[in-house]
Amino acid sequence: MLPKYKRILLKLSGESFLGNKSNGFDPFSPEIIEQYANDIKTVTDLGVQVAIVIGGGNIYRGMNEAESGIERAHGDYMGMLATMINGMAMQAMLEKIGVYTRLQSAIKMEQIAEPYIRRKAIRHLEKGRVVIFGAGTGNPYFTTDTAGSLRAIEIKADVILKGTRVDGIYTADPEKDLTATRYEKITYHECIGRNLKVMDMTAFTLCMENNLPIIVFDMNKPGNLLEVVLGMNVGTLVS
Ligand code: UDP
Repeated sequence: MLPKYKRILLKLSGESFLGNKSNGFDPFSPEIIEQYANDIKTVTDLGVQVAIVIGGGNIYRGMNEAESGIERAHGDYMGMLATMINGMAMQAMLEKIGVYTRLQSAIKMEQIAEPYIRRKAIRHLEKGRVVIFGAGTGNPYFTTDTAGSLRAIEIKADVILKGTRVDGIYTADPEKDLTATRYEKITYHECIGRNLKVMDMTAFTLCMENNLPIIVFDMNKPGNLLEVVLGMNVGTLVS
């Protein structure tokens, strides 16, 4: 089977890097990052170009000053640094299994990452390297979902794949409502009309305005990424 998508942007949440752990001092589950790396290798071996944006929620997430005592913008920069740590972890696991990678940062960190340069990122992808975009958008008050949408549009990805722990978008919260069913496909407008939270509004609007399809799927199930890339009925397609 030939892949349906030639260039993808994979958005992974930082929290998923925890696996079954509940944070503490160790924000990573090596098993889960290893599984992600293997799944990513499988699709790059098919010739699919893969860019990745990873969140930072397993390490630090910006919050309002009343909660944290830290000024919001300052905390957001801390969150962006957290995404770099996750990016480096993902990079290490991919390189270990023979996948060439480049880490590009939206905030300059010359010793560990290239600066984000759109044309260079595209060049890396064309050469078969996995490009990891770190430090979000480089701006406070944004999320890594927005970074994912923005970078996906910039590099002209065919689709943004939002890897989560649930296998798609449901009519209601499947953990609370046993009658909830999964949408195979849904339009952007239906999502808004039914108040289904796929991404934050900024990220979602960017996708909608630029006709970038979103697939929400369970990244924790090995082999799922491949099925998504092959266009099989996995997760929920928003378009
Ligand atoms: N962040 C930011 N600007 C960005 C991306 C991220 O300020 O463009 C900060 C923000 O504080 C956010 C944190 O980095 O809470 C971690 O990212 P996010 O919460 O999106 O991670 P995830 O929920 O995917 O783990």
